[in-house]
Amino acid sequence: MGFATALRCRECGREYPKEPINICEWCFGPLEVVYDHDRMASVVTRERIESGPPTMWRYRDLLPVGDGPVIDLHCGLTPLIKADNLGRELGLQNLYLKNDCVNPTYSFKDRVVTVAATVAKELGFDTLACASTGNLAGAVAAHAAKAGMQAYVFMPADLERVKIVGAAVYGPTVIAVDGSYDEVNRLCSEVADSFGWAFVNINIRPYYAEGSKTLGYEVAEQLGWRAPDHAVVPVASGSLYVKIWKGLNEFRDLGLIDQVQTKMHMAQPLGCSPVVTAYAAGVMDVRPVKPNTIAKSLAIGNPADGYYALKVIKESEGSATAVSDEEVIEGIKLLAETEGIFAETAAGVVVSALRRLAHSGAIGPKELTVAYVTGNGLKTQEVVEEDARPLLVKPTLDSFKEALDRRG
Ligand SMILES: *Cc1c(COP(=O)(O)O)cnc(C)c1O
Ligand SMILES: [Zn+2]
Repeated sequence: MGFATALRCRECGREYPKEPINICEWCFGPLEVVYDHDRMASVVTRERIESGPPTMWRYRDLLPVGDGPVIDLHCGLTPLIKADNLGRELGLQNLYLKNDCVNPTYSFKDRVVTVAATVAKELGFDTLACASTGNLAGAVAAHAAKAGMQAYVFMPADLERVKIVGAAVYGPTVIAVDGSYDEVNRLCSEVADSFGWAFVNINIRPYYAEGSKTLGYEVAEQLGWRAPDHAVVPVASGSLYVKIWKGLNEFRDLGLIDQVQTKMHMAQPLGCSPVVTAYAAGVMDVRPVKPNTIAKSLAIGNPADGYYALKVIKESEGSATAVSDEEVIEGIKLLAETEGIFAETAAGVVVSALRRLAHSGAIGPKELTVAYVTGNGLKTQEVVEEDARPLLVKPTLDSFKEALDRRG
């Protein structure tokens, strides 16, 4: 039946059965999945993982699912690419990119949703739902289609058109809310209370969040069973960032890697950087902000895991960087022009933060560094559209030569 045994409050430690709940009734702390680590450790080995499927389900023993079929669109085990060109540009000799642009719905959100959908099905739900900053909607709609479930996806009305289309095509009910993501989220909490649906990032959140651990596991396995010296991770709610750290530490506790010396660096867009602001001020409470940034997938003004993310910065001796929208675009272009990877605004945030960390010396030239590229550039094309100016020519060689001359 898998190794997950219960849910536990991260604040008061009170335990709950594995139900569709995410908040402690006692102290309102967030709930987290508890595993039987002894039984897990007696089973999990490098060999067992290596002989598993070529997807993130090779880490099934470390995820909160039972023994039945999983809702699987073949997510994960995405490329870890040695980025020599970008590394040369930044003065880093040991730089890798974890390319999650190539997941089934083109972002890392498939990792969390494949787990959430599987658990929702196990718990007997027939409807999958979410509050989305864009990428989650597509992932939920696609997995619901595969699972034969109904889907309702809620998103801010001002989202990129392609993210709406990229969710609608799978046949869910798409609800565009005239408000910010934080307002969408508040509405969805009320809907979750009265409709009995599985909201992947609300009442199913403890299970959902565990899917992000696989971005720690995979990188460690792909590096030859070791943790990187530095990880650079985009932050919206902070869940991904916290869970990569948790994943690496679980691998160490299971004896799959020797140590976790990883410094966890978080990156946010300046127009929505409440966690970076708290870190810079040296405080542990995150003041909500009203987002204003082109990095819409990261536009969560009131991050649910902000406090835990701040704890991870401290524990790992990491850092927090905010970059301007201009730097976001520069980051997207730099990544595309050096490594041939067209990634979305969240990756623009990461690459520009990485550049700052390299220039400041926070990351040394030889240190093993992994930057997380979490979503596909085709979803946020409008931010680089201006640069797409083809040479217009007549179908003659002369016209082509003239155009080349004109370009200079
Ligand atoms: C959702 C998202 C993130 C951040 O996720 P959190 O776990 O909420 O911090 C990063 N990158 C992309 C592309 C996303 O869609
Ligand atoms: Zn509690």
